[in-house]
Formats: sequence, C-alpha cells, structure tokens
Amino acid sequence: MFSRHVTKDISAYCHGELSSEDSKQFAEHIISCVRCRTRFEEVKLGIKLAEQLPQLSAPDYLWRELEPLLAKQTETPVKAAPPGRRPIFTAFQSSSVQVAAAAVLLITIFGGLWLYNNRPSEIFQTGTSKPFWRVKRLDGTPRIGSEEISNNGQLAIGEWLETDGSSRAQIAVSSIGNVDIDENTRVRLLATQPTEHRLELARGKMSAQIWAPPRLFFVDTPSAVAADLGCAYTLEVDDDGGSLLRVSSGWVALQLKDRESIVPAGAACETRQGIGPGTPYFEDSPLAFREALKQVDFNEDAVTKSAALTSMLDQTRPRDTLTLWHLLARVNGEDRVRVYEKMTAFVPPPAGVTREGVLQLDQKMLETWRYTLESSWSPGGIGKPKALTDAYWKLKKGLSSRMKEMAPK
Ligand SMILES: [Zn+2]
Repeated sequence: MFSRHVTKDISAYCHGELSSEDSKQFAEHIISCVRCRTRFEEVKLGIKLAEQLPQLSAPDYLWRELEPLLAKQTETPVKAAPPGRRPIFTAFQSSSVQVAAAAVLLITIFGGLWLYNNRPSEIFQTGTSKPFWRVKRLDGTPRIGSEEISNNGQLAIGEWLETDGSSRAQIAVSSIGNVDIDENTRVRLLATQPTEHRLELARGKMSAQIWAPPRLFFVDTPSAVAADLGCAYTLEVDDDGGSLLRVSSGWVALQLKDRESIVPAGAACETRQGIGPGTPYFEDSPLAFREALKQVDFNEDAVTKSAALTSMLDQTRPRDTLTLWHLLARVNGEDRVRVYEKMTAFVPPPAGVTREGVLQLDQKMLETWRYTLESSWSPGGIGKPKALTDAYWKLKKGLSSRMKEMAPK
C-alpha cells in the first residue's frame, strides 16, 4: 500500500492511527521520497508553530513578503479547516507543483493547528492529561521514580527510568520504535508529541530502533543531542558525560549548538563534554587511523593535533571521505588545505564546488559535496532536501531561527 505516495496518511501517522507495520512502511517511504517528506516536514513545522503560537510573532520581513502574496490568495482562499482531515490535505494535493510561499505557510499553520488540537488521546494516562510511554521489564527490577516495575510500567514526562547492575527494560517510543535500556542506566522522558519525542540519557547505555521520519526522535546526553534520521543505534554515556554512538542501520545526527556530525550505518562517533560531537569514522577503519582521529578531535595542543592529522591522512581510505568531509570545518589553515587535497585525490568535487569556496567553508558548497558523497558512505544516502523550493527554505529558516530563539534554556 505504500509504494504510492503517502501524503494522505500524514495525519493518520501523526495521530498514531496506523498500525506499527504501516507506520514503519510510511516512515521508510518518507525517508526515500523527497516529495512526501517535504509535505511531512511542512505539517511538522505547522505543528511546531501551533504549539508555539501564543508566543509567536513571525519576523517582520516574513510578513512584508507574505502580505502581497496573501492578498493574491484571497481570490482562491485556503479556508480554515472544517472538522475532519481531508479538506486540508486535498488542498495540499491540488496545489500544483510550486506552491506559493503564502499558501504553504497558511496550509502549514492550519494543518498543524488541526493536528495539534486533535493529537492522539491514547498516549495519555487515563483520567489525566499526562502523556506516557509504555515500559516493559526485561530483567531484574527496573524502577520508574521510586516504584519498582514488576512487568509493565508507564513512564510519564519528567520521570526517570533507572536500572541497576542486574536489570534491563524496554521502552515503546510512542508508535515509532523501541529503546532497550541496559544495566546501570538512567533515562528520563522529556517530551512526546507528534513533532518530537525526546529522551534524556544521563548515564549508561541504550539501543534504539526507530522507524520514524528523520528528526522526530531525539536523545539528549550531557555532551550532545542525538537526532534520529531513520535508524538503529546504540548510545552509551560514561561517568564524565562523554558518549559513544554506534549506528547499525540508517543515519543519526549528533549535535551540539552549531556542531553536527552525521553518522551512517557502520560508523561511530564520540562526544565529549564541553566540546560536543567528535568526527564520525567507520568502525572498520584501521586502529591507528581512529587513534589519530581522537587526537585531532580532542587534543587541545595544536602541534599534537597537526601531527596526528598527518598520521591519519596517511591511512585514509576512499570511504573515509565521511571523516574528511566533517574535518574540513574543524581544522584550520594549512591543515584544512591538506584535508581538502586528500579528499579531491579520492573524489573530485562536483560542479559548482570550488577549492576557494570549500576552504572558506561555503555552506552550500559543503552540502552539495556531501550529497554526492553520501551514497558512498551508505547506500541510498540520507535524501536530499534540495527539492524544497527556495521560498519554502527561506520561510522555514526564518521561522526555525525564530523558534530557536524562543526555545527554553
Ligand atoms: Zn512519496
């Protein structure tokens, strides 16, 4: 049923109305289909907006651009949604190839508002408005807060799930996946809603299997945030707050502020408190390569760093452009030139990507190069948001930076 486009199922998916098998197929389609993912992202953005609406005033420049477009739209108005989901998505489908920016925004807001106001009730505890995740005991006696779990439990927002040396548990992450919690681990549920499911891993080890569209499931650790891009992975936090991510399928993004590492299946990435994510590497790379990379990432002495880079570059294989691409922005001066030259020795930059641009860290060029490399890092790549129209990106950028400003802490 999901070999065709799935835009009509977005609402059902966000409501948790699809069976887990259908949710999985929906997510798999979305990961590989730019068109459906774009629609999904629009609705997701709409829901975020709706959640923030009481505090949100759009940036001035957006309104200046929108007003004339909105005026034009009045001849064929996009009406506020009557009850039921069909009208919104019919509007989506009938709007032809390049949706006008204003229409996108309007539909997004109405669609998002509607979904937000109609979010699923089954994830709420009976008689309360508190959402929760189901927890299954796997071994020993895990605890939620001070309560021991005999077989099944409910983890509400803000509650800690804790295992000791002999207990393990499994969490059902809404309808989008499972997380296994190993021994001696402490996790807390931070948020669960159609646009975002978020867990905090304070200590210990968890394995996640997620069949959600990209960037729906997040794990906060003391030194970075792991964002799921449709995948399975393990994440381990040590006593110093550093962590190790190992990805077994799909992709995971590790973030701290502006620093992001994108980690495909077969690769791993360490994080350190105060620094954030290190550079991702394939786990089958030579040990000496990985040891040298650790110095490049985390040693603060410039001379040691540069010497480690030399030794690392000597052992780089073509597939390690994953590591090299990430390093471009993380080393300076002559070191960046050396990384660039090593990369071009393996694979010349695509059209439109120049030496000068890359060395100056032109974001667009770096992204373009990454897209062409992704399929050599992992079959299929992450998918290309480039298909989004410029107008949409502009809106999205303005709105998400506005939302970032408003985000707590
Ligand atoms: Zn599709």
